[in-house]
Amino acid sequence: MTRTAHHAPELERQLLRRSVMALAAGRDRCDGCHRTPLVGERVHVYDGGRTLCELCRAERREAPLRSESVHGSEHGLTVRRAA
Ligand SMILES: [Zn+2]
Repeated sequence: MTRTAHHAPELERQLLRRSVMALAAGRDRCDGCHRTPLVGERVHVYDGGRTLCELCRAERREAPLRSESVHGSEHGLTVRRAA
């Protein structure tokens, strides 16, 4: 696959802004409603790195690549539940 000259500056800007915001916030945002998921809330990661919160996920039929719960970074609590 060769890349054409069709650049998508808007997409690049979005990606850049996303990564900058992710660094600033220290956690992901929902790509559906653009809010920051609450600590303990489950977020669902889709193909292409899209992240959706529980509410937005309910509107989709496709299965997420993986689901993870949001950790609070302030207190360093990384409790993992055994499977
Ligand atoms: Zn959402």
